[in-house]
Amino acid sequence: MPRERGASCAQGYILIRPKVSEDALVDNIDARSPVTLHRGVSIPRLGLGVFRTGAGRATRDAVLAALDAGYRHIDTAHIYGNEAEVGEAVRQSGVARSEIFVTTKLWNDDHGYDPARRAFDRSLRALGLDTIDLYLVHFPVRGNRPATWRAMESILSEGRARAIGVSNYMEHHLDELLGSATIPPAVNQIELHPFLQQRGVVARCRQAHIAIEAYSPLTKGRRLGDPRLAAVARKVARTPAQVLIRWSLQKDFIVLPKSASKARIVENAQALDFELDDETMRTLDALEDGTRTAWDPTSVP
Ligand code: NDP
Repeated sequence: MPRERGASCAQGYILIRPKVSEDALVDNIDARSPVTLHRGVSIPRLGLGVFRTGAGRATRDAVLAALDAGYRHIDTAHIYGNEAEVGEAVRQSGVARSEIFVTTKLWNDDHGYDPARRAFDRSLRALGLDTIDLYLVHFPVRGNRPATWRAMESILSEGRARAIGVSNYMEHHLDELLGSATIPPAVNQIELHPFLQQRGVVARCRQAHIAIEAYSPLTKGRRLGDPRLAAVARKVARTPAQVLIRWSLQKDFIVLPKSASKARIVENAQALDFELDDETMRTLDALEDGTRTAWDPTSVP
């Protein structure tokens, strides 16, 4: 019999109704409730990222640890080279497939209608799954974006992905896509943390009802030692990583921290269990300084 996992975080439901800062344009976020995407698809607000977790045992163990700790959302990509291990862990976990939200992404070499469809099939095979919950265009590569999106729409229409979206799309990429798409993207996954808040693209997504996913929410670890962040963490008796994840949740972002350590995977999930007040959110908002840890899509036409 499969073992029931995830009791630690999935049970003990706490209704969290943070007051969020004005610019978040949202109120009454329950961090444990899923976000509802277009067509009623539910996506958990906290997901485990597996970029650079590495193929093989490290990814399998991280995904199993996350599912055991109550995560129900895993974010991978073809280019991470670990889709097979993600799929293996999903199957081994004992958690019903229907309870786990799996995202993967179309790599830059695979743009264009036929290449994108082939890339999807390859990812599906690698994951060993029948459907992918969310398939994202990884980066707004110049040239073939309209044909690529038509392929994404065809995959959705066939029911092989439950939702489709984009990643690293800035306002001008979104405007182009929204101007031509039959089916709009459900999600835009971008780098977001207090040091890089991308307010323009966030506002554009909200206006178009595109759910926002925060990648590199821990700044890849680079700013965890910032003294102002450390002061907030001391004040609320949490770790800097938990404060950053909580900031994302209270901004109504779906948040994707990566860790390969079981202890830190559990630590990061505990961001669901506390609240930052308005003043603390404003202190964190003031940390914006343009720190970018990943590629900058702004200049891609
Ligand atoms: P994160 O911002 O999540 O930071 C990960 C780093 O922080 C790792 O070094 C990790 O080390 C460390 N860490 C994790 N938890 C803690 C903790 N509690 N205390 C101290 N250190 C901690 O980086 P990523 O860039 O990986 O972003 C997260 C996910 O977002 C990716 O895995 C991927 O899924 C997605 N992503 C998407 C991109 C895109 O273009 N669409 C680009 C980049 C990321 P350790 O593992 O040792 O715990």
